[in-house]
Amino acid sequence: MSNFLTDSFGRPLEYLRLAVTDRCNLRCFYCMPAEGIDYVPRKELLTYEEMLRLTRIFVQLGVNKLRLTGGEPFVRKNFYGFLKRVTKIEGLDKIAITTNGAVASRHIPFLKEIGITSINLSLDTLNKDKFTEITRRDFFDQAMETYQAILAAGIKLSVNMVVMQGKNIEDIIPMAMLTKNDDVTVRYIEEMPFNGQGQRNSLHFNHQKIRATLEAELHELSPLPFTPGTTAQEYQVKGHKGKIGIIAAHSRTFCSSCNRLRVTATGHMKNCLYDNGVLNLKRMLTDGSSDKMICEAIKAAYQTKLKDGHQAEAQRLKAISESMSSIGG
Ligand code: SAM
Ligand code: SF4
Repeated sequence: MSNFLTDSFGRPLEYLRLAVTDRCNLRCFYCMPAEGIDYVPRKELLTYEEMLRLTRIFVQLGVNKLRLTGGEPFVRKNFYGFLKRVTKIEGLDKIAITTNGAVASRHIPFLKEIGITSINLSLDTLNKDKFTEITRRDFFDQAMETYQAILAAGIKLSVNMVVMQGKNIEDIIPMAMLTKNDDVTVRYIEEMPFNGQGQRNSLHFNHQKIRATLEAELHELSPLPFTPGTTAQEYQVKGHKGKIGIIAAHSRTFCSSCNRLRVTATGHMKNCLYDNGVLNLKRMLTDGSSDKMICEAIKAAYQTKLKDGHQAEAQRLKAISESMSSIGG
């Protein structure tokens, strides 16, 4: 198997985002409806063995960074046991987790020891009541406990805030103030239509408005050089310990250096968040296909990666109606 797989635009594959479950213990309103989503039958989820095998195959294809996401990864039984195994795979320089923090805090002190390099914690407000309104669950204190535990463990921390008109615009500045004394990157994400219901009218607080809101209050905000392969334009506020980032997830300004693909909890490979899926890996993992056959199929599917997320959305067979929880955000 050859290293350094590139797509037809010359973009290398370096980063795998793997959803370990479609289940979640919160009901964030931008991600799913109040009644939740129809979870897939358990037997359709990738097993941990399948995830380990796939990860090894992707590493052979050049992947050096893995993010484990979901759904909420910490609600899957024995996720910690899986982490201990996945961190032993050679060739992964970075292993990251995205979590809502609701049940993660007790595991945090051990994650650095086993080689977890960074954690993205989703937190859309610092107001407990508003947290409950947005997530439809009462886990604010636990999420903050996880925040403190990550800082204490010395694991690189980013906080993800989905910015929503009419919901949490007034939280933009208080969230930025976390960076004053904490070594954290607070990242503002444009809301996307992956809410389990389809497009809403309120998707208009874009990256320019986020930046203008920040600039109006934080006068000494300097842009940092953009790192290709990432999604956030980062900024430094003078005198602050941490950083700020803005992710134009709906405007899609970063696709030209995209180096990632996703595998959903059911084993569907997606070249782009906005595409319909390009390869059923679960089927190949269960039909007797060899690693070499899977590798060749991934290579061929990666060649079909489109120029950007706008093209991927335009070529979808059906309009967006899925939840981020089933894609793996
Ligand atoms: N449950 C974990 C969590 O919330 O961190 C991991 C999965 S969640 C789907 C991954 C990320 O997607 C979170 O940071 C969440 O805020 C973000 N997300 C979910 N729905 C979104 C949407 N409609 N638009 C933008 N970001 C979204
Ligand atoms: Fe769950 Fe994360 Fe979706 Fe919130 S954003 S409902 S925590 S999967």
